[in-house]
Amino acid sequence: MSDSVVAATHCPYCALQCGMELSATPDSAPDAGAVLVAPRAHGDNAAALCQKGWTAAELLTSTDRLRTPLVRAARGEALAPTSWEAAFGTVAATIARVQAEHGPGAVAVLGGGGLTNEKAYLLGKFARTVLRTPNIDYNGRFCMSSAAAAANRAFGLDRGLPFPLGDIAAADVVLLVGGNAAETMPPFLRVLTAPRPDTGGLIVVDPRRTPTAERARLHLQPTPGTDLALALGLLHIVLVEGYADTEYVAARTDGLAGVRPIAMSYWPERVERITGVPVAQQREAVRLLATAGRAVVLTGRGAEQHAKGTDTVSAFVNLALALGLPGTPGSGYGCLTGQGNGQGGREHGQKADQLPGYRRIDDPAARAHVAAVWGVDPDDLPGPGPSAYELLDSLGRPGGPRVLLVFGTNPVVSAPAAARVEERLAGLDLLVVSDLVRSETADLADVVLPSAQWAEEDGTMTNLEGRVIRRRRLRPPPGEVRTDLEIMAGLTDALGRGPAVETDPERVFAELGRASAGGPADYAGISYERIDAEEGVFWPCPSPAHPGTPRMFLDRFATSDGRARFVPVEHRPAVEDVDVAYPVYLTTGRVLAQYQSGAQTRRVGALRRAAPGPFVEVHPVLAERHGIAEGDDVRVVSRRGVAVAPARLTETIRVDTVFMPFHWPGAGRANVLTNPALDPTSRMPEFKVCAVRLEPVGRVVRERAEATR
Ligand code: SF4
Repeated sequence: MSDSVVAATHCPYCALQCGMELSATPDSAPDAGAVLVAPRAHGDNAAALCQKGWTAAELLTSTDRLRTPLVRAARGEALAPTSWEAAFGTVAATIARVQAEHGPGAVAVLGGGGLTNEKAYLLGKFARTVLRTPNIDYNGRFCMSSAAAAANRAFGLDRGLPFPLGDIAAADVVLLVGGNAAETMPPFLRVLTAPRPDTGGLIVVDPRRTPTAERARLHLQPTPGTDLALALGLLHIVLVEGYADTEYVAARTDGLAGVRPIAMSYWPERVERITGVPVAQQREAVRLLATAGRAVVLTGRGAEQHAKGTDTVSAFVNLALALGLPGTPGSGYGCLTGQGNGQGGREHGQKADQLPGYRRIDDPAARAHVAAVWGVDPDDLPGPGPSAYELLDSLGRPGGPRVLLVFGTNPVVSAPAAARVEERLAGLDLLVVSDLVRSETADLADVVLPSAQWAEEDGTMTNLEGRVIRRRRLRPPPGEVRTDLEIMAGLTDALGRGPAVETDPERVFAELGRASAGGPADYAGISYERIDAEEGVFWPCPSPAHPGTPRMFLDRFATSDGRARFVPVEHRPAVEDVDVAYPVYLTTGRVLAQYQSGAQTRRVGALRRAAPGPFVEVHPVLAERHGIAEGDDVRVVSRRGVAVAPARLTETIRVDTVFMPFHWPGAGRANVLTNPALDPTSRMPEFKVCAVRLEPVGRVVRERAEATR
C-alpha cells in the first residue's frame, strides 16, 4: 500500500459514487494536512459533486475523530482510552464467556451499506467462521431489500440498475417512484432531466412536491402507503387501452394471466379514491410511458420502505413488463440504491441469508463452494439468521444475543422504533462499535474501536449501476486508528480460533472473487488492475477474459427458463392507518445537506450550517387546524414515541401528511416514531408511513398549566 499526494477515488457517501480527486497539501505548506477535493468524471457520471462530496474531507481532520480505542470499565462510567491489546482482550474474553454459557448465537454482528466490498465480505466470513454465529445482518435491510426481493422474483437476479446511467439520460420518459434525487444525489438529477425531444420527460410519484418533483413534467402525489394501488391502476390502463407490448409479453415473460384479474379491479376512478391521484393524471402517465421510444421505470425508498414494499415494487415491475421495458435496449426497470455500497454490501455475505456472490446460505452447493474457499467444513457454517430489525429487537432478551459488534452503522438514530432499539442495546452484556466518530450508538458502547475512513483505505465499492470501482487511499489513518480488516484480524487473533484473516484489501478482493465464482454476482474476473484500466467493471464478470456486463437481460432473464415473471400482488392499507387518536400520516426521508443517520455529515461545518436540525413539514391548512405557526415547536406523537421539532409550513406536502427528516438524534429523532412493521418477504420496516398526532408545544404547556390551576 503506497501513499501519494493525489488519489483518484470516489465520494464516501451515496451510491452514485461520484468521482473525486483528493490532493494533500505538503507537510511544508502553511495548511499542512489539509485535503483538497475536486470533482472527477467517471464512466457515465460527469465531473460533479454535491455539497456533501465537496466537504467530505473535513471529516478527516474533525476534532470528533476517534483516534484510540475506548473502553468503559463498568456501566455508568465514562469511556476511557485503552490499548488495542486491552480492547481486543476485553471483547474476546466476553465473547468466549457468553458463547460458552449460551452458545455461538449469543454473539451478533450488524454491518453497514457503506462498508467496502472487502469489509462486507470479510465481516460475513468473520461472523460465520470465527464467531460461528448465524446472527449477522446489515443496515441495507432498511433501504434496499424490498427492491432486491422484487427483482429476484421477477428477473431471477437483483442488480439495482441493470443498465448504465447513460441509458437513463438517453431515455425519452422516466417514471421515478418514491425517489428525491435532487436532495439525495443531486448530480443524478442531470441524468433524470436530460433534455428529451417531443413528448418525453420525467414523471415523479411522491406524496411530497419535492425539488425533484418540481422538475418533473408530471407529478403524481398519492396518499402515503398507496403506491401499490397506483401501480395496479396504471397497469389496468395499459391493459384496457391496448398499450401492452403483447409480442414482448409472449416472447419473454410468464404470469400475466395471474396478474390481469387483479389489475382489472383497479379501474382509474377507484384508484383515484384510494390514492388521491386524479384519473387524468393516471392516464397521462401511462400515455407518456407507453408511447415513448425508450422508457425507464425506477423505484426508490418511497416505494420500498413499507410492510408491502416488495409487492409495491413488484407492481411497478409488472407495469414495466407489460410495456416491454426490462431487457430491451435503451429501456428498462431499475432500483436506485441509496447507500454508498448498498449494492456490493448486499452481495457478499453480510446479509443474514447470504453467502458471497449473492448465494443463498441455505443452498448446499453454495455452502460447499464457499466453505472450500474458506477452508472450513460446510457443516460448520451456520444457517440463515434474523433480519436487522428482528436481530436488534432480540438483543438481551432470553435466548437472544448478549454481545453485539457494530461496524459502520448507527441504529440508535437509523432503526425504526429507535427508543426500543436503544433499550435493547442497553440490555446487552457487551456492545462493541467500530466507527470513525463517536456516533450515538458508539456513545452507548462498552468498547469503541476507531476505524479508518475512505481516504485512508484501499478497497472497492459497487455503485448503483453494478459497476465495481476503486476506493484509493491518499494517506494513512491518524493516531492508532486501524482499518476494519485489521480490526477483524485482531479480534480473530485474540479469540484464537477460525481461519487466519487477510488484511491486505487487494488479496481480500481476490479471495472474494474466488468465493463469488459461479454465483449470481460473479466477480471472479474482476481485479484491481482491470478496474484501474477500465474505469470500473460491471458484474457479472466470471473470468479475466469476460468484458463485464453493463446491460443485463438483453437475451434472457436470470430465471431457470430465461423468462421474466409477472407476480400477482394486491394492494392493502398501511399497517397503521390514520384514526381519531392519530389522524395524520407521517412520512420520513432525507435532506440535501445530511446523509443517513448524520453521524458523519452533522460533523461537517458547512453541512451543519445548511441543515442544522430536525423539522416537521406541515401544510398551512393542517397547521391552522392545530394552531401551529411557522417555527413553532411541534410534538409529533405516534404509538411508539414522541419527537419535538420546529414546524416548517409548506404547500408542497399533502394536507393529511407531515414529513420529518431522520438525520438527527435527541428530541427531534424521527425514528422514535416510525413503525417497525416488517415486509413479510424482504423484512424491511415500514419507515415511510405511520399514524401520528400533532400537538403544538405552546398549547400543550398552556393547557397543562390551566389544568393544574
Ligand atoms: Fe457524494 Fe452522492 Fe453527493 Fe455524489 S451525489 S457527491 S456520491 S453524496
